[in-house]
Amino acid sequence: MNIVTRKFDTLVIGAGGAGLRAALQLSQANAKVAVLSKVFPTRSHTVAAQGGMNAALGNVTPDNWHWHMYDTVKGSDYLGDQDAIEYMCRAAAETVIELEHFGVPFSRLKNGSIYQRPFGGQSQNFGGDQAARTCAAADRTGHAMLHSLYQQNIRAKTHFFDEFFAIDLLKNNAGDVLGAIAYDIETSEKIIIEAKTTLIATGGAGQLFRTNTNASINTGDGMAMALRADIPLQDMEFFQFHPTGVAGKGMLITEGVRGEGGYLVNSEGERFMERYAPHAKDLASRDVVSRAVAIEIREGRGCGPNKDYVFLKLDHLGSDVIKKRLPGIRDISITFLGIDPIEEAIPVFPTAHYTMGGIPTNRFAQVVVPVGSGEEVIPGLYAAGECACASVHGANRLGGNSLLDIVVFGRAAGKHIIEYLKANPHHKVLPEDGAAHILQRLERWDRKIENSDESYTVPQLMAELKQVMEENCGVFRTEDVLEKGVNAVKAIKEKLTKAHISDYSTIFNTARIEALELENLVEIGLATVISALARKESRGAHSRIDFEKRDDVSWMKHSLYYMKDNLLIYKPVRTKALTVKTFPPRERVY
Ligand SMILES: Cc1cc2nc3c(=O)[nH]c(=O)nc-3n(C[C@H](O)[C@H](O)[C@H](O)COP(=O)(O)OP(=O)(O)OC[C@H]3O[C@@H](n4cnc5c(N)ncnc54)[C@H](O)[C@@H]3O)c2cc1C
Repeated sequence: MNIVTRKFDTLVIGAGGAGLRAALQLSQANAKVAVLSKVFPTRSHTVAAQGGMNAALGNVTPDNWHWHMYDTVKGSDYLGDQDAIEYMCRAAAETVIELEHFGVPFSRLKNGSIYQRPFGGQSQNFGGDQAARTCAAADRTGHAMLHSLYQQNIRAKTHFFDEFFAIDLLKNNAGDVLGAIAYDIETSEKIIIEAKTTLIATGGAGQLFRTNTNASINTGDGMAMALRADIPLQDMEFFQFHPTGVAGKGMLITEGVRGEGGYLVNSEGERFMERYAPHAKDLASRDVVSRAVAIEIREGRGCGPNKDYVFLKLDHLGSDVIKKRLPGIRDISITFLGIDPIEEAIPVFPTAHYTMGGIPTNRFAQVVVPVGSGEEVIPGLYAAGECACASVHGANRLGGNSLLDIVVFGRAAGKHIIEYLKANPHHKVLPEDGAAHILQRLERWDRKIENSDESYTVPQLMAELKQVMEENCGVFRTEDVLEKGVNAVKAIKEKLTKAHISDYSTIFNTARIEALELENLVEIGLATVISALARKESRGAHSRIDFEKRDDVSWMKHSLYYMKDNLLIYKPVRTKALTVKTFPPRERVY
């Protein structure tokens, strides 16, 4: 192999909140860390997070981590693993204070403590009054977090490979993961990064759907790399649709708007969430609100000339609150719709937002795979953030719990890796031909550059995939529609073998990257529709019109999807918490 090789203690793939939090822990402990990112680190999707991060600080309403745990288990529709959820909720307050010390400029209350806003699914005292648990830096919390974490990493001398695209994981014959192979996007030079430990922190796959809130880089690359390395993906049928995307466009209008007192109305001017969630109203869980919006529109109470959206009303909050607490939302609304929310309501519609499923991990962020009748960790391989499934979000994530997840499990990964490196100080040998099969896969796109007369182009197939996923795997699902989806994605996979890169003459490298991203998205799409077709119940974000009820007897279990033969198997939910009693499944009402 004639490829430049670099060696590090740890390779972190991804420079979002999860990757940067882990890297900081490691660099501060003097480990030699490489962070690889396909965009400049502070352009990672974490930068777009608006509303905030949950922690039971109790600054605004009385609060307690145990209540937060209850809300998260209930929000997950009882599919979340309760040991991991307890770990996350207990660690939350400490990680917020750490972030504050790293320099995150959280908004303040008059008494100087961190401002917290109410978010969906938050309660006091195990289902009582609304809690205010989301710590926010205005409506630009992710921006503040990501920039602070990046600056701390620079100070700690983390080594960055900016604008490098990770292609695949490298393994030895024993199945150990020994780093990854990547492209320098600018030059198209390949590089091998050998590492004693590898952390996948590549974020979500929102680009699977035509209308989504995600950055265009969120193409599920790390999850697809895991699939190709024979690692299954867990709970992929659960994809979150956020109820308030800008209608027809998809950009996010944070739940924080409803937290500050905004609410949804239909064409009759009715505040319809009162019918669907009499207690929590507009601050019910996201799956509940998204379904309510979809039903209002389906039943003819949508707004606008085509009756295809509802209104999010916030003009009654007054210009001071909007300017101080929601300045970014006002910008988005004025820029993309020409509507100033101080005066008019914002047209909204549910939009694809968050990948609940992902690479299966435990609470130390180690990747765990089934072996025989049990499961084992893959030594030295870790995953954290949206690409991972710990599983703290189960069938539905609560708003504000992802920024929490990425720092808690990024930090947990860092801590565990430090111990692992002490016990395993040497590099394992990468076989001479360790990258051969990957290079072979790449050659096909290189060859096409000279010979582009095949019938499909990458942009065509990308558009087709997104359309298929939107039409066949949306807020409401049925057997027929999902079956169509499975067949359509399989057909796209087949067409992809005959596709070429269009426009390569002018944008050569980025076109090749898009082709690799499409290959990744197709695998994630298959994992999603196949898992969704198999799950014959409605739970959290997975809503089957033909199986309307949750079925705890047959389906309180995690799915695991393997790329080889599209195999699906299941494993039990870890219902046992670490120190407190299990929250048993109950009917979920808000
Ligand atoms: C608009 C929006 C608003 C949100 N608001 C909130 C909120 O208020 N509160 C909340 O809790 N959650 C929110 N979320 C969710 C939350 O922001 C994300 O789940 C979280 O930030 C993901 O962080 P991450 O570190 O896992 O990944 P990301 O921040 O997505 O970073 C992924 C990283 O991986 C890199 N990468 C990916 N593929 C490759 C590859 N092949 N090679 C090299 N590098 C690669 C990217 O360059 C990037 O650095 C929001 C999400 C969106 C989209």
